[in-house]
Parts: sequence; structure tokens; C-alpha cells
Amino acid sequence: MSKVLIVEDEANIRQLVKYNLEKESFQVIEAEDGLQGLRLAKAEKPDLVLLDLMLPQMDGLEVCRSLKGNQATAALPIIMLTAKSEEIDKVIGLELGADDYMTKPFSPRELVARVKAVLRRSQKEAALPGELSVGRLRFNFSRYEVHMGNAKLELTPKEYELLKMLATNLGKVFTREQLLEKVWGYEYFGDTRTVDVHVRHLRAKMSTDPETADALETIRGFGYRLRDLE
Ligand code: CA
Repeated sequence: MSKVLIVEDEANIRQLVKYNLEKESFQVIEAEDGLQGLRLAKAEKPDLVLLDLMLPQMDGLEVCRSLKGNQATAALPIIMLTAKSEEIDKVIGLELGADDYMTKPFSPRELVARVKAVLRRSQKEAALPGELSVGRLRFNFSRYEVHMGNAKLELTPKEYELLKMLATNLGKVFTREQLLEKVWGYEYFGDTRTVDVHVRHLRAKMSTDPETADALETIRGFGYRLRDLE
């Protein structure tokens, strides 16, 4: 049975979410402010956190940053709950590494579907071996790190996720839409230029090594792939 922590100051939303998740056999624990949420996320070891953005004591962004910055909770999946569309931009812009987000008001059925999707994704990741070498690139999944030769690549969380997705599917071509869905978690339309910008940054960071400089290929008319490196 998966355990979900909901951090939300509005009692009616907490109850709605709790009711719908328990109906689907989830165990639900509740926090009504950011500090309590952070404490329960560490003490209760939930499988997923539903995190409201606007919270008393400590806001959702700070809670998210703190969880993702702590090794013990860095892999804990987070779905942000936001009230307004401009807040979504903030969540994306800050690249806090939240796994998905939902805008209020949301349908309970969609929320349950998203929770299941994010859990599936994170369980699949947990089953991956801890390390992967692709040419001179070395991934350490538990540390969220990539080394190129002896140098650590300084990547943002989304750049890391993007590179990891391409590296664990070597040679496979992904469309921008697929990458947006898999890395950013959008199941609806998003701005695919976000993907191009991240690819550009990744290439720049990988360009210092001649072997990896052109490894991230553009497949004209389709999208991107990471070429198999010997
Ligand atoms: Ca709130």
C-alpha cells in the first residue's frame, strides 16, 4: 500500500483528496502547514507528497527545495498543487524538481491518475541500476550526478532528467512532445521550446569533451537522441 502525504492548509481540499485516495487503497497522512509537512515527509517516509504552493509557516516552494536538497528525501516524488496559472510558471521557472503539478480546482479522478502515474515512474527509476556508463559519461542515479571523464557536469534538475532519459534509452529518438511529457510530466500541450533550450544548455556543457560534444543529436523532423558512445 502506497503512503501519500498531503500538505495543504485548506481542510476541505485535504478531505477531498484523502477520501479519493483512500477509496483507491492509498494510505493518506496530512499536514496543514509547510513546517509540519517537511517534518512528516522526513519522519513518515511517504511514497509521494502532494504539496500545496501557498502554505502558512513555510511555503510549498521552500518545502520542495528543502526535500529535493536533502539526500534522504531527494528521490521522494512531489506533485505541486497550485491555485493560479502564473504560479505554474514559477514552479517550472525555478526548476525545483517537482515531478508534476496540478492547478486548482482539479478533478479528484485526475489527481488519483496523476498520483499513480508519478508513482509508476518513480518505482521504475528505483529499479534502475545505480550507475550507468555511456562512453565517458558516468551516471550515479542515487546521487543525481553525471561525470564526464573526471569532471562533474553541473546540471540543473531538468537537464539531469533530460540527459538521463536519453542515456537510458540510447539511440532512441524522442520527439520534443515526448520529452516534455516524460521529463516535465505534461500530458497536455506545453511549450516545446523549453526542450530546445535545455538541449542547447546540455550541449554547451558537454562540448568540452570532443567525444561527447556532438553526442546529443538533432534528428531533423523528429526530435533528439543520444548517440551510442563506445
Ligand atoms: Ca493554500
